[in-house]
Amino acid sequence: MSRWYLLKICYSAYASTLIELPVFFLPGAFLRSCLLDSMLLATSGSIYAAKLALEKGWAINLSGGYHHASLNSGGGFCIYPDITLVVNYLKRCCNLRRILIVDLDAHQGNGYERDFLHDSSVYIIDFYNSYIYPGDHEAEQAIDCFEHVDRDTTDEQYIKILQRDLEKHIKDDMEFIIYNAGTDIMAGDPLGNCCISAAGIQRRDEVVFKWASHKKIPILMLLSGGYQKENTFAIGESILQLITT
Ligand SMILES: [Zn+2]
Repeated sequence: MSRWYLLKICYSAYASTLIELPVFFLPGAFLRSCLLDSMLLATSGSIYAAKLALEKGWAINLSGGYHHASLNSGGGFCIYPDITLVVNYLKRCCNLRRILIVDLDAHQGNGYERDFLHDSSVYIIDFYNSYIYPGDHEAEQAIDCFEHVDRDTTDEQYIKILQRDLEKHIKDDMEFIIYNAGTDIMAGDPLGNCCISAAGIQRRDEVVFKWASHKKIPILMLLSGGYQKENTFAIGESILQLITT
């Protein structure tokens, strides 16, 4: 077996572990054109949308939110660390000094949390189901505000806690909000194991956008996880509501 062939096998095998799909047998070039290139474009989209949010006040990337990826590693379908890259872009190219990440996907955002473990300029609110992947206890230390969500959490409880925490933690010196709006907290989602309704998702997004607007802080929304067809309709309806009200 040639060294070049071994390298190609390793490339696909490594990508396979990160995206958790059995694609290790595919040629690297095929994998790139079918999957990785689109993720890379979505990552660029997150950075471009951050720039738009600074200009217009808000922007939504209809993809991205790869919150399990860090600058050094990936996992859980996430390869490119778009959230870390957005933060670094805002700090280095736009001179922002105080950035808030509101991560409401059902899973812990351990990728960017690992990147900002010792960075007090990045404030992290993360609501997730702590009984499921990834259970990254080291990364947890980067979180400033954590709330556990699971099948017993009702829409009413969720929205009440969210409003309370946003009121408590969004400070006037914060200059940008990255909102990771995963819909895998929705009832029936096979990976999130939560029970929030489609109406609850809409209410959640409305609450976060209203807080950003109230505080006059630019907001970038990323769609992150969601693993059933119904989630698509829920987030579509929610975005329509956000942009028409
Ligand atoms: Zn998720």
